[in-house]
Amino acid sequence: MFEKEISRRDFTKIMGSAAALGTVAYYALPSFGSLLTEEEYAAALKTANIIWIQASGCSGCSVSALNYFNFGNQSNIGDVVLGNAPELADNFVNFRFQPTLMAGQGYVAMESLRQAAKGSFILVIEGGIATKDAGFYAEVGMNNDNTHGITIKEHIEELAPKATAIFALGSCATWGGVPAGKPNPTGIQNVMDFVKDQNIKTPVINIPGCPSHPDWLLLPIAIVLTKGLDALELDNLLRPKMFFSQTCHDQCPRRGQFEGAKFSTTLSNGDGCLYLLGCRAPEAHGDCPHRTWNGKGRWCVDAGGPCVACTEPSFPDNGPLYLNMLMWNHMNTVAIGLLGTAAVGVGTGYIAYKRQQNKKKAQKAAK
Ligand code: SF4
Ligand code: SF4
Repeated sequence: MFEKEISRRDFTKIMGSAAALGTVAYYALPSFGSLLTEEEYAAALKTANIIWIQASGCSGCSVSALNYFNFGNQSNIGDVVLGNAPELADNFVNFRFQPTLMAGQGYVAMESLRQAAKGSFILVIEGGIATKDAGFYAEVGMNNDNTHGITIKEHIEELAPKATAIFALGSCATWGGVPAGKPNPTGIQNVMDFVKDQNIKTPVINIPGCPSHPDWLLLPIAIVLTKGLDALELDNLLRPKMFFSQTCHDQCPRRGQFEGAKFSTTLSNGDGCLYLLGCRAPEAHGDCPHRTWNGKGRWCVDAGGPCVACTEPSFPDNGPLYLNMLMWNHMNTVAIGLLGTAAVGVGTGYIAYKRQQNKKKAQKAAK
Protein backbone atom coordinates (compact mmCIF):
# COMPACT_ATOMS: atom_id res chain seq x y z
CA MET A 1 0.00 0.00 0.00
CA PHE A 2 2.80 2.47 0.84
CA GLU A 3 5.33 1.41 -1.75
CA LYS A 4 5.98 4.55 -3.79
CA GLU A 5 9.75 4.72 -4.31
CA ILE A 6 11.88 7.76 -3.49
CA SER A 7 15.66 7.94 -3.58
CA ARG A 8 17.61 6.93 -0.50
CA ARG A 9 19.34 10.31 -0.44
CA ASP A 10 16.06 12.22 -0.53
CA PHE A 11 14.50 9.97 2.01
CA THR A 12 17.36 10.36 4.50
CA LYS A 13 17.33 14.11 4.08
CA ILE A 14 13.61 14.46 4.49
CA MET A 15 13.24 11.93 7.26
CA GLY A 16 15.72 13.97 9.26
CA SER A 17 13.46 16.97 9.22
CA ALA A 18 10.26 14.95 9.48
CA ALA A 19 11.51 13.21 12.59
CA ALA A 20 12.53 16.50 14.17
CA LEU A 21 9.14 17.98 13.50
CA GLY A 22 7.21 14.90 14.40
CA THR A 23 8.06 15.14 18.07
CA VAL A 24 6.62 17.47 20.65
CA ALA A 25 7.56 18.17 24.22
CA TYR A 26 5.44 17.60 27.30
CA TYR A 27 5.96 19.52 30.45
CA ALA A 28 5.65 17.19 33.41
CA LEU A 29 4.70 13.74 34.58
CA PRO A 30 0.94 13.93 35.21
CA SER A 31 -0.58 13.17 38.57
CA PHE A 32 -0.99 9.40 39.07
CA GLY A 33 2.69 9.47 38.11
CA SER A 34 3.38 7.33 41.17
CA LEU A 35 2.85 4.42 38.78
CA LEU A 36 6.04 5.40 36.97
CA THR A 37 9.18 7.31 37.82
CA GLU A 38 10.01 10.48 35.88
CA GLU A 39 12.81 8.56 34.17
CA GLU A 40 10.53 5.68 33.14
CA TYR A 41 7.92 8.10 31.82
CA ALA A 42 10.44 10.13 29.81
CA ALA A 43 12.15 7.03 28.42
CA ALA A 44 8.85 5.41 27.40
CA LEU A 45 7.61 8.47 25.51
CA LYS A 46 10.95 9.14 23.87
CA THR A 47 11.10 5.63 22.41
CA ALA A 48 7.38 5.05 21.94
CA ASN A 49 7.10 4.96 18.11
CA ILE A 50 3.65 6.45 17.89
CA ILE A 51 1.71 6.42 14.64
CA TRP A 52 -1.17 8.90 14.95
CA ILE A 53 -3.87 8.57 12.30
CA GLN A 54 -6.37 11.39 11.92
CA ALA A 55 -9.68 9.93 10.80
CA SER A 56 -13.06 11.74 10.70
CA GLY A 57 -12.94 14.42 13.36
CA CYS A 58 -12.04 18.06 13.89
CA SER A 59 -8.37 17.57 14.97
CA GLY A 60 -9.35 19.06 18.33
CA CYS A 61 -7.51 16.32 20.21
CA SER A 62 -4.31 17.23 18.34
CA VAL A 63 -4.84 20.89 19.22
CA SER A 64 -5.58 20.03 22.84
CA ALA A 65 -2.30 18.12 22.98
CA LEU A 66 -0.31 20.96 21.43
CA ASN A 67 -1.79 23.55 23.79
CA TYR A 68 -0.70 21.47 26.71
CA PHE A 69 2.74 20.35 25.72
CA ASN A 70 4.14 23.84 25.85
CA PHE A 71 2.69 25.01 29.10
CA GLY A 72 4.92 25.98 31.98
CA ASN A 73 7.47 28.10 30.19
CA GLN A 74 7.58 30.80 27.60
CA SER A 75 8.07 28.38 24.72
CA ASN A 76 5.47 27.84 22.04
CA ILE A 77 5.17 24.99 19.59
CA GLY A 78 7.36 26.85 17.08
CA ASP A 79 10.19 27.05 19.61
CA VAL A 80 9.84 23.39 20.37
CA VAL A 81 9.97 22.12 16.80
CA LEU A 82 12.82 24.49 15.91
CA GLY A 83 14.87 23.36 18.89
CA ASN A 84 14.65 26.67 20.75
CA ALA A 85 13.29 25.20 23.96
CA PRO A 86 16.32 23.49 25.54
CA GLU A 87 14.55 23.15 28.90
CA LEU A 88 12.28 20.58 27.26
CA ALA A 89 15.04 18.73 25.45
CA ASP A 90 14.59 15.57 27.52
CA ASN A 91 10.82 15.53 27.43
CA PHE A 92 9.95 14.54 23.91
CA VAL A 93 7.25 12.26 22.63
CA ASN A 94 8.27 10.22 19.62
CA PHE A 95 5.51 10.74 17.09
CA ARG A 96 6.65 8.95 13.94
CA PHE A 97 3.60 9.99 11.97
CA GLN A 98 1.33 12.84 13.07
CA PRO A 99 -0.22 14.85 10.20
CA THR A 100 -0.70 18.08 12.17
CA LEU A 101 2.92 18.16 13.30
CA MET A 102 5.11 16.55 10.72
CA ALA A 103 7.04 18.50 8.13
CA GLY A 104 6.98 15.80 5.47
CA GLN A 105 4.19 15.84 2.94
CA GLY A 106 3.02 13.61 0.10
CA TYR A 107 5.27 10.63 -0.64
CA VAL A 108 7.64 11.60 2.12
CA ALA A 109 4.96 11.50 4.76
CA MET A 110 3.73 8.16 3.45
CA GLU A 111 7.28 6.82 3.52
CA SER A 112 7.57 7.92 7.17
CA LEU A 113 4.44 5.96 7.89
CA ARG A 114 5.71 2.89 6.07
CA GLN A 115 9.04 2.99 7.91
CA ALA A 116 7.36 3.45 11.30
CA ALA A 117 5.04 0.51 10.65
CA LYS A 118 8.00 -1.82 10.08
CA GLY A 119 8.86 -1.96 13.78
CA SER A 120 6.72 -2.18 16.90
CA PHE A 121 4.49 0.83 17.36
CA ILE A 122 1.53 2.28 19.24
CA LEU A 123 -1.39 3.23 17.03
CA VAL A 124 -3.34 6.33 18.03
CA ILE A 125 -6.55 6.89 16.08
CA GLU A 126 -8.16 10.32 16.37
CA GLY A 127 -11.64 10.48 14.82
CA GLY A 128 -14.25 7.98 13.74
CA ILE A 129 -13.79 5.64 10.78
CA ALA A 130 -15.85 6.33 7.65
CA THR A 131 -17.09 2.97 6.35
CA LYS A 132 -19.86 3.89 3.92
CA ASP A 133 -18.98 3.56 0.20
CA ALA A 134 -15.80 1.64 1.11
CA GLY A 135 -14.57 4.54 3.25
CA PHE A 136 -14.40 6.96 0.31
CA TYR A 137 -15.07 10.00 2.58
CA ALA A 138 -11.69 10.05 4.32
CA GLU A 139 -8.37 9.48 2.57
CA VAL A 140 -4.69 10.08 3.29
CA GLY A 141 -2.03 9.52 0.63
CA MET A 142 -2.30 8.06 -2.86
CA ASN A 143 -2.00 4.52 -4.16
CA ASN A 144 1.08 3.41 -6.11
CA ASP A 145 -0.07 4.52 -9.55
CA ASN A 146 -1.50 7.77 -8.22
CA THR A 147 -5.01 6.95 -9.39
CA HIS A 148 -6.89 7.10 -6.11
CA GLY A 149 -6.46 7.94 -2.47
CA ILE A 150 -5.88 5.44 0.33
CA THR A 151 -8.83 5.51 2.67
CA ILE A 152 -8.46 5.80 6.42
CA LYS A 153 -10.36 2.53 6.59
CA GLU A 154 -7.60 0.86 4.53
CA HIS A 155 -4.85 2.45 6.62
CA ILE A 156 -6.39 1.12 9.81
CA GLU A 157 -7.01 -2.33 8.34
CA GLU A 158 -3.30 -2.40 7.48
CA LEU A 159 -1.89 -0.92 10.69
CA ALA A 160 -4.19 -2.11 13.46
CA PRO A 161 -3.26 -5.83 13.39
CA LYS A 162 0.46 -4.96 13.67
CA ALA A 163 0.20 -2.44 16.52
CA THR A 164 1.16 -3.21 20.12
CA ALA A 165 -2.00 -1.45 21.26
CA ILE A 166 -4.58 0.87 19.74
CA PHE A 167 -5.52 4.07 21.54
CA ALA A 168 -8.86 5.43 20.33
CA LEU A 169 -8.45 9.12 21.09
CA GLY A 170 -11.36 11.50 21.59
CA SER A 171 -15.08 10.96 21.53
CA CYS A 172 -15.24 10.46 17.74
CA ALA A 173 -12.79 7.56 17.89
CA THR A 174 -14.22 6.04 21.07
CA TRP A 175 -17.96 6.31 20.45
CA GLY A 176 -18.42 7.91 17.01
CA GLY A 177 -18.95 11.43 18.37
CA VAL A 178 -20.13 14.32 16.22
CA PRO A 179 -19.25 12.69 12.83
CA ALA A 180 -21.49 9.74 13.77
CA GLY A 181 -24.31 12.04 14.92
CA LYS A 182 -27.68 11.14 13.43
CA PRO A 183 -28.14 10.42 10.54
CA ASN A 184 -24.43 9.50 10.28
CA PRO A 185 -24.15 10.10 6.51
CA THR A 186 -20.62 8.67 6.08
CA GLY A 187 -21.25 5.50 8.07
CA ILE A 188 -18.84 6.37 10.87
CA GLN A 189 -17.85 3.49 13.09
CA ASN A 190 -15.99 3.87 16.35
CA VAL A 191 -12.62 2.16 16.66
CA MET A 192 -13.57 -0.64 19.02
CA ASP A 193 -16.54 -1.72 16.89
CA PHE A 194 -14.51 -1.45 13.70
CA VAL A 195 -11.67 -3.54 15.11
CA LYS A 196 -14.11 -6.16 16.38
CA ASP A 197 -15.93 -6.37 13.03
CA GLN A 198 -12.61 -6.80 11.22
CA ASN A 199 -11.64 -9.56 13.66
CA ILE A 200 -8.49 -7.68 14.63
CA LYS A 201 -7.14 -8.91 17.96
CA THR A 202 -5.03 -5.90 18.99
CA PRO A 203 -6.23 -4.48 22.33
CA VAL A 204 -8.13 -1.19 22.17
CA ILE A 205 -7.94 1.43 24.92
CA ASN A 206 -10.59 4.16 24.82
CA ILE A 207 -9.54 7.71 25.68
CA PRO A 208 -12.75 9.75 25.25
CA GLY A 209 -13.33 13.49 25.53
CA CYS A 210 -14.14 16.29 23.12
CA PRO A 211 -11.30 17.06 23.18
CA SER A 212 -9.45 14.49 25.24
CA HIS A 213 -6.80 15.53 27.73
CA PRO A 214 -3.19 14.73 26.72
CA ASP A 215 -2.47 13.16 30.13
CA TRP A 216 -5.27 10.67 29.49
CA LEU A 217 -3.30 9.47 26.46
CA LEU A 218 0.36 9.81 27.39
CA LEU A 219 0.38 8.22 30.84
CA PRO A 220 -1.45 5.06 29.68
CA ILE A 221 0.91 4.78 26.68
CA ALA A 222 3.90 5.00 29.01
CA ILE A 223 2.37 2.43 31.38
CA VAL A 224 1.66 -0.02 28.56
CA LEU A 225 5.21 0.31 27.24
CA THR A 226 6.85 0.14 30.65
CA LYS A 227 4.70 -2.23 32.68
CA GLY A 228 2.67 -4.04 30.03
CA LEU A 229 -1.01 -3.99 29.03
CA ASP A 230 -2.19 -5.77 32.15
CA ALA A 231 -0.94 -2.92 34.32
CA LEU A 232 -3.55 -0.62 32.80
CA GLU A 233 -6.91 -1.21 34.48
CA LEU A 234 -9.86 -0.48 32.22
CA ASP A 235 -13.55 -0.02 32.95
CA ASN A 236 -16.30 -1.83 31.05
CA LEU A 237 -16.08 0.81 28.28
CA LEU A 238 -12.30 0.24 27.93
CA ARG A 239 -11.41 3.57 29.58
CA PRO A 240 -8.44 3.71 31.99
CA LYS A 241 -9.95 3.55 35.47
CA MET A 242 -7.30 5.90 36.82
CA PHE A 243 -9.00 8.80 35.02
CA PHE A 244 -12.60 7.70 34.45
CA SER A 245 -13.81 5.97 37.61
CA GLN A 246 -15.60 8.99 39.09
CA THR A 247 -18.07 11.52 37.69
CA CYS A 248 -17.10 15.16 37.21
CA HIS A 249 -20.11 16.04 39.36
CA ASP A 250 -18.70 14.13 42.32
CA GLN A 251 -15.44 16.08 42.06
CA CYS A 252 -16.91 19.49 41.22
CA PRO A 253 -16.01 22.41 43.49
CA ARG A 254 -19.64 23.57 43.12
CA ARG A 255 -21.02 20.29 44.40
CA GLY A 256 -21.84 21.89 47.75
CA GLN A 257 -23.96 24.44 45.89
CA PHE A 258 -25.81 21.62 44.12
CA GLU A 259 -26.58 19.99 47.46
CA GLY A 260 -27.53 23.36 48.94
CA ALA A 261 -29.76 24.17 45.92
CA LYS A 262 -27.77 27.25 45.02
CA PHE A 263 -28.20 27.25 41.25
CA SER A 264 -26.84 29.70 38.76
CA THR A 265 -29.32 31.22 36.32
CA THR A 266 -26.74 32.77 34.00
CA LEU A 267 -23.53 31.42 32.49
CA SER A 268 -21.52 34.44 33.41
CA ASN A 269 -21.87 34.99 37.12
CA GLY A 270 -19.11 32.56 38.05
CA ASP A 271 -20.99 31.17 40.99
CA GLY A 272 -23.67 28.58 41.63
CA CYS A 273 -24.27 25.09 40.33
CA LEU A 274 -24.93 24.93 36.57
CA TYR A 275 -27.40 22.06 36.77
CA LEU A 276 -30.35 24.21 35.71
CA LEU A 277 -28.36 25.46 32.74
CA GLY A 278 -27.91 21.96 31.39
CA CYS A 279 -24.86 20.62 33.26
CA ARG A 280 -24.62 16.87 32.62
CA ALA A 281 -21.60 16.21 34.80
CA PRO A 282 -23.60 13.83 37.01
CA GLU A 283 -23.41 11.33 34.15
CA ALA A 284 -19.92 12.27 32.86
CA HIS A 285 -16.94 10.19 33.95
CA GLY A 286 -13.55 11.89 34.05
CA ASP A 287 -11.25 13.77 36.38
CA CYS A 288 -11.72 17.10 34.53
CA PRO A 289 -12.15 19.22 37.71
CA HIS A 290 -8.73 18.09 38.95
CA ARG A 291 -6.93 17.49 35.67
CA THR A 292 -7.91 20.84 34.04
CA TRP A 293 -6.94 22.01 30.56
CA ASN A 294 -4.09 23.98 28.99
CA GLY A 295 -2.17 23.83 32.25
CA LYS A 296 -4.19 26.79 33.47
CA GLY A 297 -6.38 25.11 36.05
CA ARG A 298 -9.50 25.56 33.94
CA TRP A 299 -12.23 23.13 33.00
CA CYS A 300 -15.71 23.49 31.51
CA VAL A 301 -17.68 24.39 34.65
CA ASP A 302 -14.92 26.65 35.91
CA ALA A 303 -15.11 28.53 32.60
CA GLY A 304 -18.88 28.96 33.10
CA GLY A 305 -19.87 26.25 30.63
CA PRO A 306 -22.10 23.38 31.69
CA CYS A 307 -20.52 19.97 31.18
CA VAL A 308 -21.98 18.27 28.10
CA ALA A 309 -20.80 14.79 29.20
CA CYS A 310 -18.43 14.57 26.26
CA THR A 311 -16.69 11.51 27.73
CA GLU A 312 -19.84 9.37 27.56
CA PRO A 313 -21.02 7.16 24.67
CA SER A 314 -24.33 9.05 24.50
CA PHE A 315 -22.57 12.29 23.41
CA PRO A 316 -23.64 14.23 21.32
CA ASP A 317 -27.01 12.62 20.68
CA ASN A 318 -27.93 12.69 24.36
CA GLY A 319 -30.55 15.37 23.84
CA PRO A 320 -30.18 19.06 23.01
CA LEU A 321 -27.04 20.49 24.56
CA TYR A 322 -27.48 23.18 27.22
CA LEU A 323 -31.17 22.46 27.65
CA ASN A 324 -32.55 23.72 30.94
CA MET A 325 -32.73 20.71 33.23
CA LEU A 326 -36.25 21.49 34.41
CA MET A 327 -37.47 21.27 30.83
CA TRP A 328 -35.43 18.10 30.32
CA ASN A 329 -36.99 16.57 33.42
CA HIS A 330 -40.41 17.45 32.14
CA MET A 331 -39.72 15.87 28.74
CA ASN A 332 -38.47 12.73 30.43
CA THR A 333 -41.49 12.54 32.68
CA VAL A 334 -43.75 12.73 29.62
CA ALA A 335 -41.68 10.03 27.89
CA ILE A 336 -41.92 7.79 30.92
CA GLY A 337 -45.69 8.23 31.07
CA LEU A 338 -46.11 7.47 27.39
CA LEU A 339 -43.87 4.48 27.21
CA GLY A 340 -44.59 3.10 30.63
CA THR A 341 -41.02 2.45 31.62
CA ALA A 342 -38.89 4.24 34.10
CA ALA A 343 -35.80 3.68 31.99
CA VAL A 344 -36.77 5.55 28.82
CA GLY A 345 -35.01 8.80 28.02
CA VAL A 346 -33.73 9.44 31.49
CA GLY A 347 -30.18 8.16 31.15
CA THR A 348 -28.67 6.39 34.10
CA GLY A 349 -30.64 5.35 37.13
CA TYR A 350 -28.46 7.58 39.19
CA ILE A 351 -29.40 10.65 37.22
CA ALA A 352 -33.07 9.80 37.32
CA TYR A 353 -32.86 9.46 41.07
CA LYS A 354 -30.93 12.69 41.47
CA ARG A 355 -33.27 14.64 39.23
CA GLN A 356 -36.29 13.53 41.19
CA GLN A 357 -34.59 14.28 44.46
CA ASN A 358 -33.51 17.77 43.43
CA LYS A 359 -36.47 18.82 41.32
CA LYS A 360 -38.25 20.56 44.15
CA LYS A 361 -35.09 22.30 45.27
CA ALA A 362 -34.34 23.44 41.74
CA GLN A 363 -37.84 24.76 41.07
CA LYS A 364 -37.74 26.71 44.28
CA ALA A 365 -34.35 28.20 43.42
CA ALA A 366 -35.41 29.10 39.87
CA LYS A 367 -38.34 31.26 41.05
S1 SF4 B 1 -24.25 19.83 38.22
FE1 SF4 B 1 -22.39 20.63 37.21
S2 SF4 B 1 -21.99 22.64 38.19
FE2 SF4 B 1 -23.44 21.52 39.49
S3 SF4 B 1 -22.17 20.48 41.02
FE3 SF4 B 1 -22.50 19.02 39.35
S4 SF4 B 1 -20.75 19.34 38.01
FE4 SF4 B 1 -20.81 21.11 39.34
S1 SF4 C 1 -16.28 18.62 32.10
FE1 SF4 C 1 -17.73 17.41 30.89
S2 SF4 C 1 -17.84 18.42 28.86
FE2 SF4 C 1 -16.00 19.20 29.95
S3 SF4 C 1 -14.33 17.85 29.23
FE3 SF4 C 1 -15.10 16.95 31.14
S4 SF4 C 1 -16.67 15.45 30.52
FE4 SF4 C 1 -16.27 16.79 28.74
